[in-house]
Order: sequence, then C-alpha cells, then structure tokens
Amino acid sequence: MDRKIQGIPASPGIVVGYVHLLRWELPDVPQRIIPDDQVPAELERLDAAVARAKERLRHVRERVEASAGPEEAAIFDVQMSVLEDRELTRGVHALVRQNIAAEKAFDLVMLEWRTRFSRHSSPMLRERVGDLTDVHIRVLSLLLGLPDHDPVELPPGAKAVLVTHDLTPSITVQLDRHSIVAIATDAGTRTSHVAILARSLGLPAVVGLRTATTELAGGERVVLDGSTGMLAINPTDEEIERYHERQREEEIAEAALTELAALEAITLDGVRVTLRANVDLPDEAEAAARSGAEGVGLMRTEFLVVGRANMPDEEEQYRAYRRVMEAFAGKPVVIRTFDVGGDKLPMGGFPSEPNPFLGWRAIRMCLDQPELFKTQLRALLRAAVHGDLRIMLPLIVTLDEVLAARKLLDEAGSELRAAGVEHRIDVPLGVMIETPAAAVASDTLTHDVDFFSIGTNDLVQYTLAVDRGNANLAPRFTPLHPAVLRLIKRTVEVAELGDIDVAVCGEMASQPLMAFALIGLGVRQLSVAPRSVPLVKRIIRSVTVAHAKLAASAALRALTAEQARHELARRLDDTAQNSPYLYDGLPSEG
Ligand code: PEP
Ligand code: MG
Repeated sequence: MDRKIQGIPASPGIVVGYVHLLRWELPDVPQRIIPDDQVPAELERLDAAVARAKERLRHVRERVEASAGPEEAAIFDVQMSVLEDRELTRGVHALVRQNIAAEKAFDLVMLEWRTRFSRHSSPMLRERVGDLTDVHIRVLSLLLGLPDHDPVELPPGAKAVLVTHDLTPSITVQLDRHSIVAIATDAGTRTSHVAILARSLGLPAVVGLRTATTELAGGERVVLDGSTGMLAINPTDEEIERYHERQREEEIAEAALTELAALEAITLDGVRVTLRANVDLPDEAEAAARSGAEGVGLMRTEFLVVGRANMPDEEEQYRAYRRVMEAFAGKPVVIRTFDVGGDKLPMGGFPSEPNPFLGWRAIRMCLDQPELFKTQLRALLRAAVHGDLRIMLPLIVTLDEVLAARKLLDEAGSELRAAGVEHRIDVPLGVMIETPAAAVASDTLTHDVDFFSIGTNDLVQYTLAVDRGNANLAPRFTPLHPAVLRLIKRTVEVAELGDIDVAVCGEMASQPLMAFALIGLGVRQLSVAPRSVPLVKRIIRSVTVAHAKLAASAALRALTAEQARHELARRLDDTAQNSPYLYDGLPSEG
C-alpha cells in the first residue's frame, strides 16, 4: 500500500472503491493578456465553455429531478439562468475585447456579481450567491482545462469514494447513491453535519482527513474504513483481502446485534431504559423502525432544507412528518423544529455573521421569522393526528423563547381550526438542553415544558468552547470533561424534581462507554443513530444500574476527561467479563 491517512470515523462500514475527487472550490486564475488578433478566437473559447457548462447543468438538473424531485432540481434552473444573463455575457465579452483572457474576464465579472448579490437588500437575491459560486467554479474549471470533477458523470456501479473538502448542500443533493459508496472529507468531525448525514444515508464515511484532497489525484483504489476512520491508498490485493475479512466480521457482528432488535432494553437489575432512534431524513424512517428503537427521540427537520432553493411548504413537511409517524406506528416521535442558520447549516439568503457559532440559529431564527416557523408548526400539528408526536425546540437558553414558541404554536392551531383542517393541539412541547445556560438554569424551564432532551453535541461545544466541526480540535471535544458531566447531572436532577422526562439525544448516547455513564447519571431515555440502537441495547442489557451509578460517581470525581474515561472503562470491562452479551469486547470509541 502507498500509505494510510487517518481521519475521524463518522459512519461505519468498510468499502473498497475508487477515488472520485471533487475539488469544488474556486481555482486560482492567472493573469493573461491576449494579442489583438486572438480576440475573436478567445471569445469563441469563452462561448464554448459557457455552452458546455449549460449542457452539464441540464444533465445535473435532469438527474436530480429524477432522483429527488422538481423542487430540488430548481437550484439548477437558477444556475442556468445566470449563464443566460445578457448583462453578464456582455460584461465578460467587453473585458475579453480589452485583451483580457477569457478565464480572467469571467472571474472578474463573477467576483463583482457575487459581491453585489451578497450585499443586496433582498434576501431572495442574497440567497443566489451560492448558485453564483457554483456557476463560477464550473465555468472556470472548463476554461482552465482542470480535471472534470462533476459528480454527475459517474457511471452506475462506479464504486466511487467521494473525496472532497466538505459537503455543501448543492453537492449533497447531487449525490448519486448508485455510484457513490462512501464519503471522505478533509473537514468535519463526528458531530458535524456531513457525518450525521452520511450516517442517515447509511454511507460509510471518514471525515477530518485534513489533506485527502491534496494527497489524492483521483482514480486511486482505496479502502475506507468508516469504523476506524482510516483511508488506505492503493492497497495491495492481500491487504484488500484482509479488509474483506474484517468486513465479513463486521457483518457477522452486526447480524448478531440485529437479533437484539426484538429484545427489551432492560438492565440486569431490571430497570427499563427507553431507547429511541435519531432520524434525519424521512427516507430512513422505515429502516430506523426495524432497528428495534421504541420511537424517534430526535428528528432533525433541517435536513429537509438541505440543498434546496426554497423552504419546503406546509404540505410537503406534513407528508414528511407523517411518513415518520406511520413508520413508527403509534410509538412516540419527537420532531425538532428547524435548527438552521449560524454554524449549524448555513442558509442562503441571510447575511454572514462575524461569529456564527453564537449566531442567529435555530429557535432564534424561527422566532424572528414567524411565518416560516408557523408553517412548520402547522405541518406538525396536522401530522400529530397520525400518532404520538412531540415537538422539541432547539438551542433554548431562556424561558421567553419557550413562551414565544408556545404562543406561535397556539396561533398555528387556531389557523388550522379556522381553516377546518384536521389537527391536534394537545401535543407535548419539549426543549433541547444544549447550552451551559440551559443546563444550569434548567429549573427555570420545568414549569413550562413537557420534557428535556440533552443535546451533547452542542452542549460539549458550548461548554468547552470547542467547535464541534473543527477537525483540528477533535481531541479536545471531550464529553467526559467534568464540566459536561456536571451539567448533565444537574439537568437530570432538575428534571426529576420537576417531574418531567429527560433524554439524551447527542452522539454521546451512541457510544457504549458514554451510554454506560449516562445510565449511571440517571438518564433513562437515550436516542441514538439507528445503526447504534442494537449496540447501545447490548450495553443496557449487560450492566446493572447499581454498577453504572458507581462508575458515574467515580467519573464525576475524576479531574479530567481522560481519568473519567479510565474509571468508566475499568468498570465496564469488569462487567463485560461477566456478561453474555459483551462477548466480543467493546468497540473503540471513535
Ligand atoms: C446535539 O446538539 O447534541 C444534537 C442532538 O443536535 P444537533 O447535533 O442536531 O445539533
Ligand atoms: Mg444541537
């Protein structure tokens, strides 16, 4: 093998495939002056590149329309209309006539357009900046003769491992599930949006590889191991055989875990734990229901928005929520309102912010845009007719936000009643506890909410001031830090006193050692990625609460996350030795 690159395991599974490098970024454009007699030929070269770009866009559009529907495909109409714009063409032609090479002329005009659009007072036009950037990259790549990285042209069965810096919405919507078998990115961590999306799509993924797009040229044979975070470049046939062997072992282990689906999540000393699934896309609802989850503990509705030119309307949202409810046939389904904006999922159409981590995101954005929010709330109240739906608000830091959201929820109910549309209003309303403020002051919320769900991905990020998506900081992202454990403990105690449910739905719950700690801290509801349901169930069925409590107390006394991990691992190992379910040891923590 040439070499291995180590990244962060983001979505499990081992695949052997071929690198499809997608450098979807603006290339450097050299200054080049052309002599007068070459101007006509240069203009022709420019027009040919634009025509070719349009042709490709037509392809992409057709394919996305067939796979994802006309609404998603609309992004590409917008991009085509940019290339057909007369003012743009005139501007570029004028520069070429002043002896500037086609690529530089196009670059200059597009830069000016992007600046103009990004400063425009109309959100609709600001929203177009992402489209302009896509067009800019596409045409420059053609003019500069750069390798053609367009994901659209992959032949079916290409076994492509998509290697890219980061996964943007416009790439996500184009992902061809028939030819792409895995994802590898330079950026990202276990809790970043690309990792979460890859897990939902069931595609093995490694993120945080940092240098993959510079080290790879495209076309190399690679092995990607989503469970260990490893990307092996040009492996030998023997090495591939070894990975196949591991792949078979993983499949056997997974099949053994699947047998747990029908069993109860109950500890050895008879305490029941409610184990639910995190669902990010309606498409995965049916598979999540088969995992043995007792409902959905978190549906991240913002994934309905990814890669879209417009927000989904009420009817489309209603159908998506209803589908998830029906897949879970009457079991509780917790649907979280949009967590978009800021660092979470940048949305076109809103000004960029100097400090997006602390920015206009989630409930903040929804409350400031009541029509957008109420559309979602109406869709939720309508879907509630089909089962046990519960609504959850993200990033709550103050009671005022809960009260304002409740008021809009009431209004949404009244609007449906006035229109004579079938709906329910007796829907429980809960909040995510995912900031230190919410955890410390959780007692201020208990009176007005029906449940808490601890979002450890953000809680760790905000408590430790560690960006959850920054690959360079991944080792510092430690859910077992004393501050985080204390905040979780506090939240659980407050919920008990207030007599409301408390769950954990962040990634922490999906990791065996941490799930053990959470049970010891008094958590009785966990929501995890569907693939982790059997694994976490196995842990639950292998431990006693008494033992977990002792382990959690020791972890709480530890001075560092590392010490806490050690305390927990030691006690879980003791348990594992005596447990029929932990026969093959514990997987690494990722
Ligand atoms: C969390 O923050 O832990 C969480 C579950 O929400 P998300 O990962 O979608 O921010
Ligand atoms: Mg969160």
